[in-house]
Amino acid sequence: MTNDQLDREGARLPEGVVDLRAERERREDHIVRGTAADGMVRAFAITARATVEEARARHDTTPVATAALGRLLMGAQMMGAMSKNDDELVTITVMGDGELGRITVTADNRGHAKGFVQNPRVWLPLNGRGHLDVGQAVGTGTLSVVHDVAGMDPYSSEVELVSGEIGDDLTYYFAASDQVPTSLGVGVLVDRDMSVRRAGGFIIQLMPGCDDDVVAALEANLAPVHSVTDLLEAGMSPTEMLRHLLQGLDYQELDRMPADFRCGCDRSRAKRAVLALGRAELRDMVEKNEPAQVHCHFCGADYRFEPAELADMLDGAGDPAPEAEI
Ligand SMILES: [Zn+2]
Repeated sequence: MTNDQLDREGARLPEGVVDLRAERERREDHIVRGTAADGMVRAFAITARATVEEARARHDTTPVATAALGRLLMGAQMMGAMSKNDDELVTITVMGDGELGRITVTADNRGHAKGFVQNPRVWLPLNGRGHLDVGQAVGTGTLSVVHDVAGMDPYSSEVELVSGEIGDDLTYYFAASDQVPTSLGVGVLVDRDMSVRRAGGFIIQLMPGCDDDVVAALEANLAPVHSVTDLLEAGMSPTEMLRHLLQGLDYQELDRMPADFRCGCDRSRAKRAVLALGRAELRDMVEKNEPAQVHCHFCGADYRFEPAELADMLDGAGDPAPEAEI
């Protein structure tokens, strides 16, 4: 399955020649947004191999941890993309009693996301279907979503985990908390060398007042799709995924944006965290000739401040500036 643009571009190339530029663009991490059935359906889809691979490399996650963190990252990237608010951040926390512990991800509305898992080195046998056992690794517990808009009180809601498989849990979140009928799939395929081979997902939502025949058509399209993994294995791009899932419903793509793993931490932000320890603590470290170390949980970066630098900070220390995000 190819989109119109590829068809047009392909037509200019001799037969059998792959258009590498178009192919690369197709594979680069991105999110598409579209509608179908005269606006009664809205849809999002993502491909995010590089995002999830970067999370894996930064946190040295095992395959089951890569899958859990990757699924949640992509869920957050798509949910972030739903926001029209440029300074809105979506933070999703899965708190299960399984071995992975807490998983936290944050995304903005421009495709950027960061996240981490409390115990990234969990090894579990494959489940009965031969898949990574994310449900077992997450366990039972809660999923909470916090929407943060600059200058406003954050609002949050929490649901019980349904299966710990992340996709089911996010689907339930939309039904229970947002009261929007939603079909959501997120999947990560991990290669033999433990790198990320494919990662992607979709969210399809029915708007209020949606016709019964639209619901029936969508159900018929979704019925044969057992998991998003099937679509990823078939090599579908986000656009192709939505065209496939919304066939017969006049899918219209609205826009496309790049996506990536991005953490906004840097040395000056780490310095503010050190300053926030207070003068007494800083003076103590200088006297004991100890460095200060700041670790960013989201991306794994470490910042080290030598005692001489701490002494300079004491000399010039004012109030720490307020925190910015992502
Ligand atoms: Zn960071």
